[in-house]
Parts: sequence; C-alpha cells; structure tokens
Amino acid sequence: MIEAIVEAIRLAVTKIPEDTFSAIRKAYAGEEDETARFNLGNIIKAIDLGFADRVPVCQDTGTVTFFVEAGVGSPFLGKLRDLLIEATRRATEEIPLRPNAVDVLTGRNSGDNTGEGIPIIHWEPVPGDRIRIAVLPKGGGSENCSALAMLTPAGGWEGVKRFVVEHVRACGGKPCPPVILGIGVGGGADYALLLAKKALLRKVGERNPDGRIAKIEEELLTEVNSTGIGPMGMGGKTTALDVKIEVAHRHPASFPVGLVVQCWANRRAFIEIKPDGDVRVWN
Ligand code: SF4
Repeated sequence: MIEAIVEAIRLAVTKIPEDTFSAIRKAYAGEEDETARFNLGNIIKAIDLGFADRVPVCQDTGTVTFFVEAGVGSPFLGKLRDLLIEATRRATEEIPLRPNAVDVLTGRNSGDNTGEGIPIIHWEPVPGDRIRIAVLPKGGGSENCSALAMLTPAGGWEGVKRFVVEHVRACGGKPCPPVILGIGVGGGADYALLLAKKALLRKVGERNPDGRIAKIEEELLTEVNSTGIGPMGMGGKTTALDVKIEVAHRHPASFPVGLVVQCWANRRAFIEIKPDGDVRVWN
C-alpha cells in the first residue's frame, strides 16, 4: 500500500492531468503575443519532459497534501496516517521530491517532507468500507498568493468578484500563471479556505453543478483573463485556465471568501483502497 501511495505522488508530480494539459495547449494555440507563446511553449516542454522521463515537471514539488474520504468500515483506517507519512518519506527519496518541510522556529529542514502537521492530511469520515485519497502536492509560489477575505454580506457576489480580480492583479506573475483559482465562499474563515483548496481537485473545464455558481465561475474566468497578466505574468490572454467555486451556508453577518491559487503545475492524483487491499491509482 505504501508503494501505491508513492506511485500516486509520483504520478501527481510527473504527469500533469490531461484536462489541464489540453487547456494549456489550447491557450498556446490561442495566444498571438510572442512572449506569451514562448512561455506557454516552455511550460508544454516541461510537461512533455516530465511525462517522458518520469521526472517532476517543476523543481518545487510542493507540500504533500492528502484529502482522505475515509470509509468508516475500512480495515486500513487505523494504519492510514502512518502509511501516508511513510509514503511521503519514501517518495521524497525515490522520486525524488524537493525537501520542503522546514521547522517554523529554527528554519531547519526535516529533509523528508514530513514534520509537525506535514504532510497535511484532511480527514472526512464517510459511510462504507472504501478509502479514497486525493493527493495534491502544492507549490509554494502559488500558495503564497492564497488569501482570505471576510467581506460584508451587503457587497454580495459582486464583492467576491472584485476581491478575486484585484488580488489576482496584485499577485501578477508570482503564482506562475496560467493559474487555476480555487474559491470557497461561506462557512467560516477556516472552512472557506478548505473549500477553496478542495475545489482544485475538480477537472479543468468541469463546472460547479449548480448553474448559478457555474455562471459566476465563467464570468470570473473572463474577468481574470481580461487583466492581461498572461503566462508567467509577462502579458497575454491566458492568466487563468479555470476558476472553481465551492460554497457553504454562511453566518448572516459574515461573507467569508477563501482564495487558493494553483499554478500551471496543477498536480493531483487519486487512490482508492478497497477492503480486500486492492488499490487503484489514477489522475
Ligand atoms: S508556483 Fe508552481 S510552477 Fe511556480 S515554481 Fe512553484 S510549483 Fe513551480
């Protein structure tokens, strides 16, 4: 099982999912600006090389983050935390991953991508006996552009759009555009950001099933792309490949908006563990 988890991490960091890659190729075909085409061309080369040589598509292999849907009847539940931590250690050595876990007081790097609270594991107990895990290795440059806004309810969704577009504009090229924006609206401060990060697990091009939210996703995508920030922040039509919004009910006095920015290296993979130990890995 540890090998399967290592394989999922390897898949995530070396093979950009087809939905994202095809959106990048489409952006390349649609850009007229020479610099934008040059930058997208380099991104396409990095993705091709990562896939062909099974090497990470970017030197920053991110913070390993797991979202676990934990079937409460699974016989592997009790061991899973240790398995995920051990798999992260092995992945760091074998793939290899860049060691990205640093002590907040001493600055000392643990050397194996594990440490206090790292890898990040989000748990959600669900009925049944299967475990489904999403692996999201999250790059630091794009994570640094994540933000939380506690907006006033009177501002409504226009306020959400204004916050997102202004923030993306302020970040410019820092998150390595073209980006994918994960947005969580509602819940509380913590939950809005969690929803925003989980939103990144949806495929590029996959809209929120609620048509009203889907419409806002499309409007925001158009607005963000009209900023002209472009690939790697050097100008062009493609600042974002997609915008994903997830929502929760909110307190009447609060309008929390979490924004998690994902770079072009939109890495993700999934693992399913059946109760008989059969494991499937894909992205
Ligand atoms: S933001 Fe993404 S593409 Fe840029 S250096 Fe970090 S991981 Fe790599």
